[in-house]
Amino acid sequence: MPLEIQIPAFTQAALACTVVIAAAYPLLKRGARSYLLRKYTCVLDLEQLGKARKGEKVSGTAAICGGSVAGLFAARICSDHFERVIVVEPEAWTHTVEARAPPRFDTREVQGNGSPYNTINHKRSRVYQYTAVHLYQVLLLRFARRLFPRFDEEVKDWGVLIRCADFIFSLSGYRMRFPDAEEILMGPRRSIEPIFRQLICEARPEIEFVHGTATGFQLAADGSISAVSVRLADGTISEIEDCALAIDCTGIAQSGLKLLSRAIPNLPTDLRATYNADIVYSTLEYPLPLGFEETLFKHGMPKTKGSTGVFSYSPSPEVDTRMVALTRCDENTVVFTMGGWAVDMPTNLDEIRTFAQQVKNKKHIPGYFYKALDLLEPVAHLGTVFEARVTNCYKINYERAANVLPRNFVAMGDASMRVNPRFGQGVTKGAIGAITLDSVLRKMSPTHKDFGKVFFQKMTPRTDGAWTGTRFADYAAPTTTPLPNETHETGWLMRWYQLQVFKTIEKNENAASAFWHILMFLAPPTDIFAPSIVAGVVKETLWPSS
Ligand SMILES: Cc1cc2nc3c(=O)[nH]c(=O)nc-3n(C[C@H](O)[C@H](O)[C@H](O)COP(=O)(O)OP(=O)(O)OC[C@H]3O[C@@H](n4cnc5c(N)ncnc54)[C@H](O)[C@@H]3O)c2cc1C
Repeated sequence: MPLEIQIPAFTQAALACTVVIAAAYPLLKRGARSYLLRKYTCVLDLEQLGKARKGEKVSGTAAICGGSVAGLFAARICSDHFERVIVVEPEAWTHTVEARAPPRFDTREVQGNGSPYNTINHKRSRVYQYTAVHLYQVLLLRFARRLFPRFDEEVKDWGVLIRCADFIFSLSGYRMRFPDAEEILMGPRRSIEPIFRQLICEARPEIEFVHGTATGFQLAADGSISAVSVRLADGTISEIEDCALAIDCTGIAQSGLKLLSRAIPNLPTDLRATYNADIVYSTLEYPLPLGFEETLFKHGMPKTKGSTGVFSYSPSPEVDTRMVALTRCDENTVVFTMGGWAVDMPTNLDEIRTFAQQVKNKKHIPGYFYKALDLLEPVAHLGTVFEARVTNCYKINYERAANVLPRNFVAMGDASMRVNPRFGQGVTKGAIGAITLDSVLRKMSPTHKDFGKVFFQKMTPRTDGAWTGTRFADYAAPTTTPLPNETHETGWLMRWYQLQVFKTIEKNENAASAFWHILMFLAPPTDIFAPSIVAGVVKETLWPSS
């Protein structure tokens, strides 16, 4: 007689639930991952970037105010979606062939606070940081490769590097390496901006560049921008009529906000949040001596996949206020970035040496760093210096005014947010704006009443990590003046957590990988709360390793 097992109804229901959950778990997990990636990053939007728009192009003109990196990216995107694209840029030099060619500037002597030094005599007067060293994230290279399938070959003649970003990092006193790092673009700002200008103009000759300044927005009866007023180089005013979309890419001029507040009397006056980080740094470039890297390898520089020996000592200010970095500027140039929160700025090799010796984690400045200084002595006279002072960092909270803003207005790049440049996020932030714009344009036209609102709602979580992360770190410096409604204590929990994460990263490759992907704008910042990282943090808190 067969044995019958009686399973109680409750147990049967529980078993059924377990089976359903187990079956659905991978789907739920994938869904949650995709949601986070879409919300906090634009990696999934990259897939459609550069593809032809479905259906007709939007009639009318995309009027882009500002022809620097963000404006150029926006123009390239808009050329896929609009009948006509106009870029308005006041800097005369950007309209010359020189601004689309590899940089060839002479130098001039500057009488700094200490001894005189040479600086690059560039012609991009409206972009103060034009000769400052610039770093970029993986996302920028992926963006460039999507838009320009032959990007790597195209940029070969420009001397820029495409190398694996497996940097040698000392972050807030913890050493870290990133074993699964990908390639990034490495090149000075004075090359990157002309590269994109050249590639975009070549690929999309229909984009029109107007030498002028955006001076006004004319509103239609429904509150949308119907025309953009432009003061041309000869002083006359011209109108960009039939404006389908107005894009503010005017950088720190933030002209969009000014023009909107003139046009919209009830625009909230408190959209702009600003604090003073009082951050300074100098970048010192030297020609790459023969056998430079080989000699440094012999002196202990780790061999990385990128083999550029990028070394960076970048503390949060609660740990140290001095930053030191030795990187490659391009194929032929070595660059030091030295500075921090209200510190002195070295302008020659001796001062770099003294500055590096004053950091708190002295052991983290490797011996080969000082050897590099010795190797550069014979070319010291060929060095050039740029001294940077970044006082105010800001964010314009356009998303808060979405109901008052014209439906066909968006802002991106430094026109909507400027962060402490310590992690070099500005140019990639411009690309995030362009990718986000592309994804919104594929779903709706700027004639839709919610176009601008959807754009800002999408854009905000994708860039807020950069704003919050750098701001909270800056608050640890006593010299920082916080936002009016915040104090130096604001963000203490995040600072504490991050420090524990850094300790974990030093020993845990998975945590290092997660952190690196966040840094490169490839993963949502929520990954910092992955169970393995939280477990590491708990362990560090209960049983600190040092
Ligand atoms: C010292 C320093 C170091 C930096 N280092 C890095 C780094 O390592 N990596 C990185 O990615 N970023 C870095 N950044 C930030 C980066 O340079 C900026 O984020 C980037 O230049 C912003 O580009 P943008 O196109 O938004 O604005 P900008 O480059 O400032 O350009 C704005 C453009 O708008 C034009 N304009 C102004 N007013 C008007 C108007 N009314 N009408 C029309 N046009 C107008 C200007 O002429 C200009 O061409 C650094 C910044 C500083 C200050």
